[in-house]
Amino acid sequence: MLPAFFDSLLQLITRTSTDLPPDVRAAMRHAMEAEPDGTRSAQALSVIAQNIDQAVSCEGPICQDTGMPTFKVKTPVGANYTWMRDQIRAAIAEATRRGKLRSNSVDSLTGDNSGDNLGPGTPIMYFDQWEKDEIEVKLILKGGGCENTNAQYSLPTELPHMGRADRTLDGVRKCILHAVWQAQGKGCSPGAIGVCIGGDRASSYMHAKDQLFRTLDDVNPNPQLAALEQTIMVTANTLSVGAMGFGGNVSLIGCKIGAVNRLPASFFVSVAYDCWAFRRLGVKLDATTGAIREWMYREPQGQPSTPMLPAEIVNAGFPRTGKEVVLTSPITEEQIRQLHVGDVVLINGSMFTGRDAVHAHLMKHEPPVDLNGQVLYHCGPVMVKEGDRWTVRAAGPTTSIREEPYQGEVIKRYGVRAVIGKGGMGAKTLAAMKESGAVYLNAIGGAAQFYARCIDRVDGVSWMEFGTPEAMWQFHVNDFPAIVTMDAHGNSLHKDVEEASAQKLELLRV
Ligand code: SF4
Repeated sequence: MLPAFFDSLLQLITRTSTDLPPDVRAAMRHAMEAEPDGTRSAQALSVIAQNIDQAVSCEGPICQDTGMPTFKVKTPVGANYTWMRDQIRAAIAEATRRGKLRSNSVDSLTGDNSGDNLGPGTPIMYFDQWEKDEIEVKLILKGGGCENTNAQYSLPTELPHMGRADRTLDGVRKCILHAVWQAQGKGCSPGAIGVCIGGDRASSYMHAKDQLFRTLDDVNPNPQLAALEQTIMVTANTLSVGAMGFGGNVSLIGCKIGAVNRLPASFFVSVAYDCWAFRRLGVKLDATTGAIREWMYREPQGQPSTPMLPAEIVNAGFPRTGKEVVLTSPITEEQIRQLHVGDVVLINGSMFTGRDAVHAHLMKHEPPVDLNGQVLYHCGPVMVKEGDRWTVRAAGPTTSIREEPYQGEVIKRYGVRAVIGKGGMGAKTLAAMKESGAVYLNAIGGAAQFYARCIDRVDGVSWMEFGTPEAMWQFHVNDFPAIVTMDAHGNSLHKDVEEASAQKLELLRV
């Protein structure tokens, strides 16, 4: 068969997970320039830039959620797809074993994690033939936080803050802006969107995701769509959602729109949202050996990525003002009630991870550790066992709003004092925080290498039967930085930014 095919695939997966393409880096540099120093968005972007460079330097995942791998493969006529599928699956399993991918494939009925990223429907692979004498493999790793912010509209429809969206390009414009507003910081803004006009429900979403294989700096060959892309880029960035939903000048780093035919009765607009950790690469392979001939979406052959930051500040840490509040867990109610939205805290001591499975389980079972005064981190880390010792390979925050049905109860029942995550939480959690004396701390979404460096040791793990991302890990942390975005006085930055951006959205109705 093709002796180098497996190794080429492993290189592609590893590099996609650890090294952002130049068009995304350029867009993020532009975002950094657009945010004034000292603002929350500027602080978030500084951490993101450090994280991007740190991921390259240690060849570690840029974000701990290495997402759903989606491959698009083109081959000469007559290629053996069965063999190629098996090779791709084997390369995915090996990359997972090496800690380049998190084990992300979960049985939807039992909740069991396969542990190697393989299972029905994962990874996603599309094959196509062409008349060329080479193989092309493109890969996107798109995480759950941004996938959950995808949106689909059936026109005509009435949109909150935007009014009626007709079956026109103006109706499409309203849907796209609504989707960006609705995403707020939950998909780790600033993000990029792929949009499809038309299709049926399924093909419309597929075509929207396909748009994400275009580079952020290309120009749509259709002049009408090119103009709409431009309009969206300018107007979406007036919404002031900003990095991580903190408020700011850059909410979107790219908008790519395609169109496919539809049934007369249907008019779908689908929006595929990708986060700043927009991991997309490709390779062109020799059709007789499977060896890499050329990288796609990268600097010219052989050149390393251009760093985001000068070498001397790549590990500068969270931009400090001297007003940071240092907290050591266990934390008292009195300490928590002194915090207000906007404060930056540095956490030291123990911290416990807990996400979807842990929160659901805590509704019916006592925690395996004492959570009184503790910090609960919404995080599904990438962990690797070396001998009998666990090491953290990536550990950024996950989207917190999924825990909204449970969080208030967990706080009140077990005395949790701080919850760390990203994207914020809702009214129920805010009320519980006020009642019990707890805060929500927003960490910078996707900054998995940055936060892994704040963890100095792994002290234990419980509920491993949920799989490594869902288990409850006990970390010991050092100056772990986060911003208070919901306090114990009933204030929420997320609510404020959502309301302010809704008013700006209203201005874009016409
Ligand atoms: S950067 Fe955010 S949205 Fe993107 S994969 Fe990571 S956690 Fe998910």
